[in-house]
Amino acid sequence: MSTRWLILALPPLLLIMAALALAYVFQELDEAGVDRKAAERLTLYRQTIIGEYQKYRYLPYMIARDPRATASIGLGQPAESANRFLEEMAANSGADLLYVMNADGTTVAASNWQKPLSLVGRNYGFRPYFKAAMRGEEGQFFAIGLTTGRPGLFLARPTPVEGEPVGVAVVKVDTRDLETAWAEGGELVFATDADGVIFLSSRPDWRYRTLADLPAETRAAIASSQKYAKETLKPVSGQPVTGQKQLTIDRQTFRHNSTDVGLLGWKLHFLVPVEETHNSALPIWAVTLTLCLFYAVIVLGLRGRRLRKASALLRQESADLKDLNQRLVGEIKERRRVEHALLEAQRGLARSNRLAAVGEMSAAVVHELSQPLSALRMFVAGTRKFLEKGDTQTAAENLQEIDSLQMRMTSLTQELKRFARPGESRIEDVDLRDSIQAAEKIARPRFEETGVLLKIDMPDTPLIVETAPLRIEQILVNLLRNAADAAADEDDGVVQLQVQETGTSVLVRVLDNGPGIPVGLRERIFDPFFSTKTNSEGMGLGLAISMRIAEDLGGELSVSGNRPKGAVFELKVPALKSGDTADDPSEYLEPAIAE
Ligand code: ADP
Repeated sequence: MSTRWLILALPPLLLIMAALALAYVFQELDEAGVDRKAAERLTLYRQTIIGEYQKYRYLPYMIARDPRATASIGLGQPAESANRFLEEMAANSGADLLYVMNADGTTVAASNWQKPLSLVGRNYGFRPYFKAAMRGEEGQFFAIGLTTGRPGLFLARPTPVEGEPVGVAVVKVDTRDLETAWAEGGELVFATDADGVIFLSSRPDWRYRTLADLPAETRAAIASSQKYAKETLKPVSGQPVTGQKQLTIDRQTFRHNSTDVGLLGWKLHFLVPVEETHNSALPIWAVTLTLCLFYAVIVLGLRGRRLRKASALLRQESADLKDLNQRLVGEIKERRRVEHALLEAQRGLARSNRLAAVGEMSAAVVHELSQPLSALRMFVAGTRKFLEKGDTQTAAENLQEIDSLQMRMTSLTQELKRFARPGESRIEDVDLRDSIQAAEKIARPRFEETGVLLKIDMPDTPLIVETAPLRIEQILVNLLRNAADAAADEDDGVVQLQVQETGTSVLVRVLDNGPGIPVGLRERIFDPFFSTKTNSEGMGLGLAISMRIAEDLGGELSVSGNRPKGAVFELKVPALKSGDTADDPSEYLEPAIAE
């Protein structure tokens, strides 16, 4: 049993203990009440006995001295008149029997002289009341009438002649009326004689039973006086009754109270069924039981409610968990779907990126090759003319140029291949003046075409940088050609190339006096395919590629306005090898073609 249950069981246990204590106290009170009532009743019953006794006590005394009665013993009137006198006296006094005995104990006159069970002529000399009277004492005796069989109280007095008893006058008081009155009262009351024999009882079945087993000599004395005729005088209880408060008769237990009558050693006993002394216990236990049941109902009810609450909570929690689980499953599904969609999108993007890269590259190829190709066409046409004229010297020079252009294009295609295949771009120490000259050579035809003047200001000392020379050339070619294009429409179109060395970098600036670039467009001109040129050459890739190359090489490309008009492009090339620069400048195409 757990402590919890012990705690729960504590209130009813305490209640039961309190009820026990209360029941005990109330039983004590009940018993005291019963005893009080018994004492009152015993006093009353005692008075009825004493009253009967007093009522008849002097009757034999008077009769013993009345000549009308003593005639029967030869002291006056004849016996018949004595009989009549006694009959009349009995009728008037209410006595059961009145009779006169002579000195032998033989009845000489009796009130029932005319009845079949007449006492006249019968000898009762053995009766103690006779013997006592003959001793000159007052005879008092309770016994069952030997002739009539009726119990009664015998009171006897001697008839003295010169002081000597010569006969005895006796009154027998019938006690059955007393018993009937007791029985009608519905109470349990009985009287015992000096030997403890019940001779009066409201319960007829207890009559002539004893309070204890009688000793042999007592039995012998009773037998000799024939007091209780042939009654067996069995004890009422297995236990001798010696004034104890509790008494069991025929398996029924009683509260027992007794008192001395003050006559012939008689005692009066008053019994109350023991249950009546427990009257208060019943409501106490009923209330206790009700409270315990009430408590049990409340405890079980609360427990049930708690259990119901807990199970409702559990149900709610499991429902919540289920719900959460379902949401999680849903979210996982959604995530997978999104991941899948993302993967698809990435693949799509990679595809389109690849396509874009291919497109960009194709455009770049066209762009980068168209210039040398058109130059090649011009040289070939020139050579043909010089050969037709027979000027082989100039033709040979032109062929030289054609050869270098062819080499240029080869290296360009190689460069483009490098875009596609990373790791092929070579970084080396370069004198930037060589790159500028190479670029100028490629861009020259455009200047000649447009009639724009190109001025290049370069220091005499080498401008050594660590970079990819062909790419730097590529940028410079783009910048020079754009500048030539911009200044083409000017009357005195001029393009200047200036070089400036700082501590950490070399600045190459290309200035023109063309229309310049509106501030709002300065960002956009570096976007791929942004072009304002209407001819087929304008593909809008030159600056985009240049910007990427510059950044790739750890440099910068920027634009600003020229004064009074035109544009200034500035290429900053790192002067010294720096950890920040990319080892592989061609990587800029990598993300576009990588999965
Ligand atoms: P493309 O030369 O094929 O148009 P670019 O990327 O080289 O492509 O140039 C993009 C655009 O930038 C040009 O179309 C032109 O409008 C503008 N631009 C470039 N350089 C100059 C310049 N020096 N002066 C004015 N505008 C320029």
